[in-house]
Amino acid sequence: MTFDIVILGGGVVGSSIAYFLTKDASAPLKVAVVEKDSTYQSGSTARSAGGIRHQFSTPENIRISQFGSDFLRNITEHLSTDGTKVDVSFDEGGYLFLAEEHQIPILYNNHMVQKREGVDIALLDPDDLARAYPWMNVSDLAGGSLGLSGEGWLDAYGLNQAFRKKAVQQGVTYLKEEAVSLKREGNKVVSARLSESGEIFADTFVNAAGARAAEVASWIDIDLAVRPKKRFVYSFSCRTEIPKCPLTVDSTGVYFRPEGAQYICGCSPDAENDPDCLDFDVDYSWFEEFLWPTLANRVPAFEAIKMESAWAGHYAYNLLDQNAVLGAHPEVSNFIFANGFSGHGLQQAPAVGRAISELIRFGKYQTLDLSVFGFDRMLTGKAIKEINVV
Ligand SMILES: Cc1cc2nc3c(=O)[nH]c(=O)nc-3n(C[C@H](O)[C@H](O)[C@H](O)COP(=O)(O)OP(=O)(O)OC[C@H]3O[C@@H](n4cnc5c(N)ncnc54)[C@H](O)[C@@H]3O)c2cc1C
Repeated sequence: MTFDIVILGGGVVGSSIAYFLTKDASAPLKVAVVEKDSTYQSGSTARSAGGIRHQFSTPENIRISQFGSDFLRNITEHLSTDGTKVDVSFDEGGYLFLAEEHQIPILYNNHMVQKREGVDIALLDPDDLARAYPWMNVSDLAGGSLGLSGEGWLDAYGLNQAFRKKAVQQGVTYLKEEAVSLKREGNKVVSARLSESGEIFADTFVNAAGARAAEVASWIDIDLAVRPKKRFVYSFSCRTEIPKCPLTVDSTGVYFRPEGAQYICGCSPDAENDPDCLDFDVDYSWFEEFLWPTLANRVPAFEAIKMESAWAGHYAYNLLDQNAVLGAHPEVSNFIFANGFSGHGLQQAPAVGRAISELIRFGKYQTLDLSVFGFDRMLTGKAIKEINVV
């Protein structure tokens, strides 16, 4: 089999790239997506917390999410296959970042960057917080930053499926197989070997393998400093209603948000307790010993909660700077990376899909310039300092 483009991995990122590549019917491209797991049970997308925010400290990350929100607001126009409504339950419930006194300078600095980028946000002092959220303990807080529009959460699996369905309608072939190796000749990849079909050929290959991206890159002797890091999401119910609850990121780093009649929460561990890991075992004691007391300190009503369920998923964690790696490797011109999203790849999928399709079709970015995320920095070690990593 021969294609113009083969995408390895059909999660939300790979499927978005496939959609954008084939959107323009005037220049038809033969695109295949190799996805081993059509249930999407083990990928990161369906296991994510579903959040989208504009409150980053890097302008490009902000612009990426702004495009994402616009895309989600008009999703039916983009992704409907038969004129009926596409519903990914996009809820613009907002993100609320809480800060103690020592965190205020960072909050204010981020605020300036975000305002310059046109983000719809407000700074709140402890009185504002207490008025807006009477259920919150603000005694140890010095302020917060609230997204007023464009931020919130969505059905991540639904977005993945909507991209996939539309891509298929536009002529993309999904191959339900595992890619097992790549063949490189000089500065080009010439083929991929699949578990059942054998070798498939293409002009361009895209690495969209999520937490397994480094494994795929290693097949052509490229060291991609992206590792699978396990993250837990715990779902709980609370007897007391917590009205108008945004996706709240506590000063401790613990986040929570409503999910239907329940809530979900989670937190990234310290670097020294964050091994590379691909299993799905859940650490329940971490909820009991750390998350629950932290939640109850912030929201006293969370003293009386019941954990309903929990799951684990994997960040494709960029060891250098926890930001995406986008574009070709300097020495392998037709092997394109769309990796290392480190916990914000769901919201970045629409803009990244568009950007990678531009890179492939026109040889450069046409709309959002995302060259700052190029592979070169992984070699030079020139990190992008994104401060707001959740
Ligand atoms: C607990 C948790 C919470 C998160 N919360 C958020 C959030 O709130 N907001 C946000 O924006 N992001 C969040 N993320 C991150 C987000 O889920 C990811 O960045 C995003 O889903 C990445 O999409 P992807 O398509 O790159 O990866 P994936 O969804 O993992 O897709 C990669 C696909 O590649 C396939 N694949 C891999 N290797 C092969 C192979 N050799 N052959 C064939 N197929 C292969 C896999 O089966 C998989 O389906 C969270 C992640 C986790 C784990």
